[in-house]
Amino acid sequence: MAEKEYDIVIVGGGPGGLTAGLYGARANRKTILIEKYMPGGQIANTEEIEDYPGFEHISGADLAMKMTNHAKSFGLEVISDEVKEIYVEGDYRKVACASGDIYSARTVIISTGGSPLLLNVPGEKEFLGRGVSYCAICDGAFFKEQVIAVVGGGDAAVEEAMYLTKFGSKVILIHRRDELRAQKIIQERAFKNKKMEFIWDSVIETINGGDRVNSVTIKNVKTGAISNLDVGAVFVFIGFVPNSNVTREPLKKDEGGYIVTDFKMETSTPGIYACGDVRSQLVRQITNAVGDGTTAAVAAEKYMEEKGW
Ligand code: NAP
Repeated sequence: MAEKEYDIVIVGGGPGGLTAGLYGARANRKTILIEKYMPGGQIANTEEIEDYPGFEHISGADLAMKMTNHAKSFGLEVISDEVKEIYVEGDYRKVACASGDIYSARTVIISTGGSPLLLNVPGEKEFLGRGVSYCAICDGAFFKEQVIAVVGGGDAAVEEAMYLTKFGSKVILIHRRDELRAQKIIQERAFKNKKMEFIWDSVIETINGGDRVNSVTIKNVKTGAISNLDVGAVFVFIGFVPNSNVTREPLKKDEGGYIVTDFKMETSTPGIYACGDVRSQLVRQITNAVGDGTTAAVAAEKYMEEKGW
């Protein structure tokens, strides 16, 4: 176990965290970013990004690599470890990791994003990795020429369903209403895709199979009718829960559990900032995560300056 001192510790390596790292390091502050997996966060598992200004088409993995290398070129340290707890001790914010290492910092920026929401139906946990998935890029190729079900009606469900049409014989999107929540431009593409089918006003009651998933039982929420659909896989994209339970301090959160910040991205605990998808806000896009990260790092720098640190 070692204790190391930094000016800024960033927890989580998505676009918000990486941008905060770039600005923190560029301001000549000793800055480290701690990420559990690979830097990139959700974009690392996104096939194609077409709404990040300056890049008409770029893969999520490429953008993540570019962001990481860019921040590192200014001196950001990036390490792989799991943050267990963040707490305040006098003038320091401490970040305790699974490895036993503790990072002592003047400021901490939380950019821990979120985790996929579960359907919580029988069969979901049992068939995880055997036909149930939350990541099309990771698992889509396992279901070549099979019928794939996708659950959800938001941007993620529709975009990932279209990606899955590269592999499946057809992709059936099951949505609990008769109207998608996804952006209109994404909807239009999906409606034009010949491999896509839609089952409206319906929810999955159970996911069934033997060794692997072979069907889902569906209930029409308007008529109550129950039916069975033969599928080889079920991909669930029904939103996510923020990874906001990382602090010992009780940070102010909204009703969804997202961390509430002020315009400086500062949380209810001075010197602790939040950015990106873990933060309470209207829009969750790469562009605003990047903006949040910028603000958080600049505000952290000003905070330290005012304190004379
Ligand atoms: P989302 O926008 O919250 O959509 C979740 C979808 O799942 C909704 O259609 C919802 O139905 C449905 N749903 C929720 N709980 C359900 C349940 N228990 N059973 C069945 N269906 C359920 O989530 P998201 O699509 O993951 O997107 C999250 C954020 O990331 C959004 O802000 C989105 O704009 C952003 N994002 C953007 C892009 C892009 O711009 N290219 C791509 C991916 C994600 P209802 O519609 O009935 O509520």
